Amino acid sequence: TPVIGVLALQGDVREHFAALAAAGAETRTVRRPEELAEVAGLVIPGGESTTISKLALAFGLMEPLRARVRAGLPVYGSCAGMIMLADKILDPRAGQETVGGIDMIVRRNAFGRQNESFEAPLEVRGVEGGPVEGVFIRAPWVESAGARAETLASYDGHPVAVRQDALLATSFHPELTGDHRVHALFVDMVRDAAV
Ligand code: GLN
Repeated sequence: TPVIGVLALQGDVREHFAALAAAGAETRTVRRPEELAEVAGLVIPGGESTTISKLALAFGLMEPLRARVRAGLPVYGSCAGMIMLADKILDPRAGQETVGGIDMIVRRNAFGRQNESFEAPLEVRGVEGGPVEGVFIRAPWVESAGARAETLASYDGHPVAVRQDALLATSFHPELTGDHRVHALFVDMVRDAAV
């Protein structure tokens, strides 16, 4: 059983624990570098990416996170987590840093005020059995991505799910839906990386 951590600095940590457990993983809280060292995969939850960034810096986790990503750790980020995995933010707040790893530029709160929160069915490459219900909450989209970042799903012409090697990111929140297929895809990625 793969041991997967959830970065538990801020955000919807509990929902990811439940989704990962339902998808067959053993879960751990990650707040300290020693805890990061013990997991075979990591989820960065939805929440507020500026807050997560500042706490990761304050907890001395940013450099260890970057080092493990460079070494191939599978990481899945939803919403704020997607922002944390982007090499670049189009409109970062002052002092906001990312872990990076996916060669993409994201736009925060991209869908605008009229469309702050909405749901839409999405076909996600690699997820069988019909569309995933995409829950978008002040979500980012991918403004542009390099050739190595594969788009798995788009909405309104913008990539909202991408994968680059062992890194997976979604603009939306499958952890809020009770549908664990995206988490199952990630658990499979962790299994593949471990062999
Ligand atoms: N708008 C948030 C941010 O920029 C992300 C929102 C979310 O994770 N639901 O960090």
